[in-house]
This record gives sequence, C-alpha cells and structure tokens, in this order.
Amino acid sequence: ALQVGIVGLPNVGKSTLFNALTSAKAEAANYPFCTIDPNVGVVTVPDPRMDKITEFIKPQKVVPTTMEFVDIAGIVKGASQGEGLGNQFLSHIRQTDAIVHVVRCFDDPNIIHVAGSVEPIRDIEIINTELLLADLDSVEKRLQRTEKQAKNSTDKKLKLDVEVAKKIKEALGKGLPARAVVLDEMEQVALKEMHLLTAKPVLYAMNVNDADFAAGGNDWTKAVEARAAEENNKTILICSAMEAEIALLPPEERKDFLDALGAEEPGLNRLIREAYTLLGLQTYFTAGVTEVRAWTIRANTKAPQAAGVIHSDFERGFIKAETYHCEDLFKYKSEQAIKDAGKYRIEGKEYVVKDGDVLFFKFNV
Ligand code: GDP
Repeated sequence: ALQVGIVGLPNVGKSTLFNALTSAKAEAANYPFCTIDPNVGVVTVPDPRMDKITEFIKPQKVVPTTMEFVDIAGIVKGASQGEGLGNQFLSHIRQTDAIVHVVRCFDDPNIIHVAGSVEPIRDIEIINTELLLADLDSVEKRLQRTEKQAKNSTDKKLKLDVEVAKKIKEALGKGLPARAVVLDEMEQVALKEMHLLTAKPVLYAMNVNDADFAAGGNDWTKAVEARAAEENNKTILICSAMEAEIALLPPEERKDFLDALGAEEPGLNRLIREAYTLLGLQTYFTAGVTEVRAWTIRANTKAPQAAGVIHSDFERGFIKAETYHCEDLFKYKSEQAIKDAGKYRIEGKEYVVKDGDVLFFKFNV
C-alpha cells in the first residue's frame, strides 16, 4: 500500500494529527480498521463522489479505498549525524512514497518548542537539512560503489547510475533537494532506485490554533506559504488539536460541531485527499447492487492494469471494460438513462482510465 510519512520537529503536533487520522477512521463502519503497528495507520480516502454513487445504486455494501500514514518521530537537529534517536528515522521514512511535513505555526507557552521559539521557516530548514545530509551521505556511498563497479564494466545502466548520482550529489551540495533536479525518464528510474528522502513530494501541514484556523492563517503561515511556493510544494492549514477533538466525537455530534464552525467536513479529509493527489493517485469505481467500491490507481493507468488492482486474473484475462463516468450517473440518474444518452462505452486494452470512471471488466478465466 502507498504510504505517507508524517515528519516534523518534536512538539509540532505530529502525533496529535496521526491519532486524529487513525481514530476518526476507526469509526468508519464499512472499513475494517487496523493499526499495523503503533506508528502506522490505515486511513480511508474520503470521496464525496462515492456517497453520491451510492444514492443512485443503493448497494448493500460500500468499500472506500485506503492509504497508510506513518508517524515518523525522531528528527531533531543533528539527527543525520546521530543526535537524538539518531538516524533510526531514516529506515521508516525511506519506505514512504510522500511526506507530510508538519510545521508549528502556533504559540503556546505550555508547550515547549525544541528550538526555543516559534519560527516555522527555521524549523523547515532544520528538517530539510537533516534529510539533505542523510541523502548526501547515501549518494556518496552509492557513488563510491557504482564508480568502482562501472570501471570494469560495459554495463550502460551502471554508467547511468554514476551520472545520475553525480548530478544529485552536485544539487545536494548546493542545498537543493533531489526532487529539484531535472532528469529524463531513464534517469528518473535510476533516481528512484536510490530511495532518497529529498526526492519525495512534500506537503507542508501548517498547524495553527483554532482562532487562527478560523481566520485562515497568521503571519507564520504566510511565511510558510511563500517558502512552499518557492520550492514548488503545496501547503495545507490544519488545527490538529481541533481535528483530534472532532475525531473523538460520535458521528451525529460531529456534524453539529462542523456546522458550528461553518465547515463541510473535517480538515483531515482535505489533508487525506491532498496527500492522495500528492502521490499522483486517482480513483475508479466498481458499482453494483451488492457493492460499490473505490479502487486506487496511478494517473495514466490503462484498463487491464486497473483491473489488475482488483485481481491479477482480471489483468491476465482482460477482454474489455464497460464504462461510464460517475458525472454521467449524477446527470442522467440511472444506468439505463446513461445508455440511452449514448454515454455508456466499451473500451479495450489501450483505454487510459480516468479519475471517477465506473468500470465493469469482462475477462477470461
Ligand atoms: P509531536 O511531538 O510533533 O508528535 O507533537 P504532539 O502531537 O505530541 O503535540 C505536542 C503538544 O502540542 C501536545 O501537548 C499537543 O496537545 C499540543 N498541540 C498539538 N497541536 C496543537 C495545536 O494546534 N494547538 C495547540 N495549542 N497545541 C497543540
């Protein structure tokens, strides 16, 4: 499953956010919630389109799609050089596909700030520097190894590995993350194999007090937004303490609480969806009277591979897919009406599945 790592300095609200994410979903009746280990939680991806589909299809069962969040503690100044918990965090973060970087944009005299004061840009730089130093270390080691191997070899891939490692090392040396290096397709494959921390996409979660949340931010969040824009990264405003409260409310009270705030849904839902998008993920649906279900694919996935997400037999024996878009269901209100309007299609092996497609696969067994 695709994983998002939650990083940030101590006392910025990571665990509060992680607990809110996991406890909120514990109440989603349709999904068998599980915590894989104390720091890994499975979260359902909220999708208003799925709720709408169920209004028309009225299935017995609804199964949302999921993703995983990992609470990665232990990054402090000097961590890459062995400070604090040292670089134990590295092995956890390497396995993740994207990063939510929680930044403290709230002041609270009762909650100690590890660096002495609230200063989000400095905090961002501390974390990013640790990730960068850790990457520099692994790229240098890799370069030593691959250069030695490449010397006595005609293997083109090895030569490419050396070239890419050099480019990345140069960028890191200048303080740039690996994701900022422009690479062609082959080079990107080589980069992926390096499992670098600064190659992963980042979403900054600006954690504020409830008053600043209601106000849409503060001076600190403005600074973070400016920084993120320079880096080509996205931001999201959250109040993790409030999200934790909302998550613990019984569903009926949750609605009232959100209404009082003038919010349509918990901020966590936005966060989950942003992280999903950050991973380059899309959703298609299967929809019948027994079950409406959401499935996750990467952007640009063709129909047979999309079918393979359900079962490898579906991919192997793929014949065709019958399909319509969920927007057509909302517009025409029934499958028959979609057919009458000529919007019900039959697609083959080369069809690129779109976000929001409803698909029925025909396959040989
Ligand atoms: P972590 O070390 O980053 O995992 O931080 P925690 O989630 O454990 O939070 C540290 C402390 O900050 C806890 O006492 C939280 O209750 C508090 N905290 C978290 N988010 C907020 C917030 O949005 N506002 C305020 N005032 N306190 C918060």
